[in-house]
Amino acid sequence: MPTVYDDLVGQEHLISILRGAVDASRTGEETQEMTHAWVFTGPPGSGRSSAAVAFAQALVCANKGCGTCSDCRSARDGGHPDIEIIRTEGLSIKVEEIRELLTRVSWAPSMGGWRVVVMEDADRLTESAANALLKAIEEPGTRTVWLLCAPTLHDVLPTIRSRCRHIQLHTPSDEAVAQVLINRDGVSPAMAHFAARVSQGHIGRAKYLANNESVRSNRTTIMRLPLQLNSLAAAFKAAQTLVDLATASASAASEARDEKEITSLQEAYGKGATGRGMASGAAKAVKELEKEQKSRATRMVRDSIDGALLDIATFYRDVMMVQSGNNEAIINSDIADQIAQYASTHPKHGTIDKMAAIMNARVNLAHNAAPLLTCEALMCRLAKA
Ligand SMILES: [Zn+2]
Repeated sequence: MPTVYDDLVGQEHLISILRGAVDASRTGEETQEMTHAWVFTGPPGSGRSSAAVAFAQALVCANKGCGTCSDCRSARDGGHPDIEIIRTEGLSIKVEEIRELLTRVSWAPSMGGWRVVVMEDADRLTESAANALLKAIEEPGTRTVWLLCAPTLHDVLPTIRSRCRHIQLHTPSDEAVAQVLINRDGVSPAMAHFAARVSQGHIGRAKYLANNESVRSNRTTIMRLPLQLNSLAAAFKAAQTLVDLATASASAASEARDEKEITSLQEAYGKGATGRGMASGAAKAVKELEKEQKSRATRMVRDSIDGALLDIATFYRDVMMVQSGNNEAIINSDIADQIAQYASTHPKHGTIDKMAAIMNARVNLAHNAAPLLTCEALMCRLAKA
């Protein structure tokens, strides 16, 4: 029997907590198992938002999360009247958005159960937005359940997290990820194991990599960048290559989506309508949408650069493994020879510095540093012996 929890790889412990909460929720009362505020944390790709959405589905499903009934399906697709899934496209969630949300969810649930709000990026709440949300969470007796998702507990305001039950997701093992790719997505075993290993438990990335030739070829280019850093000129060139590749792959993903959104917005306004008011209303809405899309595109490029930097970090991690005599433990076995060669010609303390420099660049990017400048500074540091 399929359930909404099937995609949560390697998270048996939390699934049993969520099942217990769903059982308790059927009494309609708030209990210790079924509280109305939760925080789901876990590293990127561990499936924290999938876990929150699965829980939301189970709360409104008559079969406690069958995954196939109309409640389960509409909950997942964002069309269920009692479930709101907040996905942030911008860099932050502003207080106006939270106020609007609170107005929308102030009504009693339409079907008599619970109203559920899934907030996928609670770490992006501005301080004033978080405070507005806190008031709603503190309000007793509502039938709204808040499911907040964030990378770690520290990303959530202390006043909010102290009122939430905490669900921690773990990074699934490579083997567990590979098995899902093989059994669910029909990926060949060799490809599944490769994709699982280099994606390090990030199931979405593993699937994307396994199914896309161009993504794999971009990755190959990125992974070879550290091998080419033999001069400052090469470092600047490598930074440009990294930013170009990341930008191209982010735009490929967003262009198709942007176009579809504009078309459906124009249709909503009645395409070809000639009334003056109609035309200017549509034009204004399209302009608004384009602004949102631009901010989403910026975020996607940043995420894409971050992904590339994480990949490069695995190169130096592997070098360090080899330098410590752990040759079997390397992630990038497809370039094992180059890694061994690099390891034998570079000092070990330099490898540690380089890994720290990559993590530092990622933090700077997350704080809105200019992408190309950040990558150039990083590559110059990586080019040192
Ligand atoms: Zn169902």
